Amino acid sequence: MSGKKFGRRGDLWLCLAAVALLLLGAFWAWPGQQDTVYGEITLEGQLYKRIQLTGHRGREVIPVRTERGENVIVVEDEEIFVQEADCHDKICVKTGRLSKAGQVAACLPHKLMIEIKGGSEPGVSK
Ligand SMILES: [Zn+2]
Repeated sequence: MSGKKFGRRGDLWLCLAAVALLLLGAFWAWPGQQDTVYGEITLEGQLYKRIQLTGHRGREVIPVRTERGENVIVVEDEEIFVQEADCHDKICVKTGRLSKAGQVAACLPHKLMIEIKGGSEPGVSK
């Protein structure tokens, strides 16, 4: 979103964009209205990668290496999971496959987190 220079007219557009984003946010919170689901990988709270899970086909391997260790994240069709990790607790691996909004897999030793965003919240009937 940043990096582009806007003039005075640009400010108006920025305002409109902000309103549009707010509306979009309201849409996302609306159960059943939005079924596009994303997997967000964050490292130390910073977004590392976002993958659209809805409509995803095939297998994509995302190795994440940090000074703390390594996690091998796999996106398979519309699911995302940690396949391998060299952390000591392996909780991230045991968490298993994520595909629904609100699901989270965390690797605390590596400060890595996978979060599913969008779609309908768990507990909301389809
Ligand atoms: Zn782990």
